[in-house]
Amino acid sequence: MIKDLKSLTWNELEQVAAQHSQKPFVVQYLFTFIHQKNVAALEQITPLSKTFRAALTEAGYHISTLKLIETFDDPDGTMKFVFETADGNRLESVRLLDDQRATLCISTQVGCRMGCLFCATGQLGYQRDLTCGEIVDQVYQIQLRTGKAQNIVYMGMGEPLDNYEATMKSVELLNHPEGQNIGIRHITVSTCGLTEGIARLTEEALQPRLAISLHGPDDQTRQSILKISKKVPIRSLMSALRKYQDHTGRRITFEYCMIQNYNDSPQQARQLARLVKPFKCNVNLIEFNAFDGCDFVAASPAGIRQFAAVLEREGIETVIRYKRGRSIRAACGQLGADWLKRTT
Ligand code: SF4
Repeated sequence: MIKDLKSLTWNELEQVAAQHSQKPFVVQYLFTFIHQKNVAALEQITPLSKTFRAALTEAGYHISTLKLIETFDDPDGTMKFVFETADGNRLESVRLLDDQRATLCISTQVGCRMGCLFCATGQLGYQRDLTCGEIVDQVYQIQLRTGKAQNIVYMGMGEPLDNYEATMKSVELLNHPEGQNIGIRHITVSTCGLTEGIARLTEEALQPRLAISLHGPDDQTRQSILKISKKVPIRSLMSALRKYQDHTGRRITFEYCMIQNYNDSPQQARQLARLVKPFKCNVNLIEFNAFDGCDFVAASPAGIRQFAAVLEREGIETVIRYKRGRSIRAACGQLGADWLKRTT
């Protein structure tokens, strides 16, 4: 039984209220004080009776809060936040700013078991899943200090679909009209290709945007970058995405990290175009960000432009994502790089 009230949905809070012989309306107070006003303790929910608050505390209910350990600022406006959980684990989140619109990149696990070779988090290994409360609290803590964010992307530390329940519950909480009310089309869940998770997502009533870490147009290329691709060949991934799009009608974003001499040739661009063309989709080309212990080299800017031009000629909507937050190791694939440096 989850005792962290921040990890409970509206319906689950109703059950807790009923168990304590409370009327359903108390949930309004619990939910808005936790998810909108961001209170850190039950005593702060003053509209609730003292008896009810005491009963909840006695039953072990509490409101978890991440501890902010450190913040880093990049001259390009990117900020990185290092948080600590109650059991002493650390995680990182990033705030990116574009034309005064903030996007928060949040984590779903401490470390990650996917081991993608271009990603520092993957080299750290897996510690544990974050709880739903710990996932949403990254948003609340950052907003408390920097103001309202417009977009949430699940692209921080960890593979979101490897922590499926907590991830989808956190999406529901962030989207809830009595909470942060972040539009579902402003929430993106990213995966390196867990087909089981994609199949589950296909059936969800709530449909966040889906981003796929592809990074290669064929199995051989993907296998040199993503360990998961040994278990999930491209054919299975594309078949899961076909079902997902047929069922949901939602556009898919393909993420493609540009690594010199691995996946950046014009021939691979043509292959990629053929692979994604049957989908309603767009491709994000991401400049590779180096970290200690990784031998990959970023594709040249000219090479990336050439690659993008091939995709665009084939009618694929393509965006080049230039390096952001690199000086503070907040760029794509760099989360956890500071700890990695210390441990190697
Ligand atoms: S890219 Fe994502 S899934 Fe892959 S190792 Fe890094 S955090 Fe995990």
